[in-house]
Amino acid sequence: MNATDTADAVPRVALKGLSKTFGHFDVLTGIDLEIRAGEVVCVIGPSGSGKSTMLRCVNLLEVPTSGSVEIDGIDITGRKVDINTVRSRVGMVFQQFNLFPHMTALRNVTLALRRVRGMSKEDAGEVARKSLAQVGLADKAGSRPAQLSGGQQQRVAIARALAMDPEVMLFDEVTSALDPELIKGVLRVMTDLAEAGMTMMVVTHEMGFAREVADRVIFMDAGAIVEAGSPSEMFDHPRTERLQNYLAEVL
Ligand code: ADP
Ligand code: MG
Repeated sequence: MNATDTADAVPRVALKGLSKTFGHFDVLTGIDLEIRAGEVVCVIGPSGSGKSTMLRCVNLLEVPTSGSVEIDGIDITGRKVDINTVRSRVGMVFQQFNLFPHMTALRNVTLALRRVRGMSKEDAGEVARKSLAQVGLADKAGSRPAQLSGGQQQRVAIARALAMDPEVMLFDEVTSALDPELIKGVLRVMTDLAEAGMTMMVVTHEMGFAREVADRVIFMDAGAIVEAGSPSEMFDHPRTERLQNYLAEVL
C-alpha cells in the first residue's frame, strides 16, 4: 500500500456509536458515520432531530455521553486532546455569524490566528487577506460587520474558519438567517469550497444545494440516521416513509 492508499483508508471524520443525552432525553442515539477526505455530506431532517448536536460533537462544543469522534483516526474525545487543536482542525460556521461588532472583518479573521496560533500580526494579516479573498471579500477587510450585508458577514465567518486551515468544515444552517437575495452568494462560496476538495458536513434546508453539491445526503430523525444515500437516491427514490413524509413537507 502506498501513502495515498493509507490516507484514503482512514476516514477524515468517523462517528462511532455517538450518543448524547441531556437529562433523560436521548438527543443522539448511537450515530455511526464515516466521511472520506474531500467528501461533502449534507444533513437534513426535522427541527429537534439532533443535527446541530451531532455537528457540535464533532468540534467538541458538546461532549458526547458515549461513543467517539475521530478525525483522521485520532479520537478527539480522548482525555489528552487539546481542545484548541481540535477547534482549529475542525472549522464551524453557524446560523448566527458571531462576529465581533467592534472589529473589522480583517481583525475578526486574524483574532484566532494570533491568539490560538500565536502568529505575528503580519503573518496573520496575510493569511486573513487570502481567506477573505477566497470568499470574495478582498475589498472588505477594513469594514466592520455593521457595514456589511448579512451575506457578507456570513462569508467573513466562513473566512475566519478557513483561515485556520481546517481538515473539515461544519456548516449549521448558515443561510437560514439570511434574506433570500443574500443566500446565493453564501452557497456559491460553499460550492467553490466543495469543488476545491474541502471535507464538509452541511446541515441545511437548501435542498437544491444538497442535490447539486452533496456526495451523500443523510436524513436524521429523533436522534438517529434514518436513511442515507446519494442525492438522487434520497430525493428521487426515498425508501423510508419518514423521509418521504419529510420531503413532502419541505419540497
Ligand atoms: P436540530 O439541530 O436537528 O434542530 P438539536 O441538535 O438542536 O436539533 O436538538 C435536538 C434536541 O436536543 C432538541 O429537542 C433540543 O431541544 C435538545 N437540546 C439541544 N441542546 C440541548 C441542551 N443544551 N440541553 C437540553 N436539551 C437540548
Ligand atoms: Mg439545529
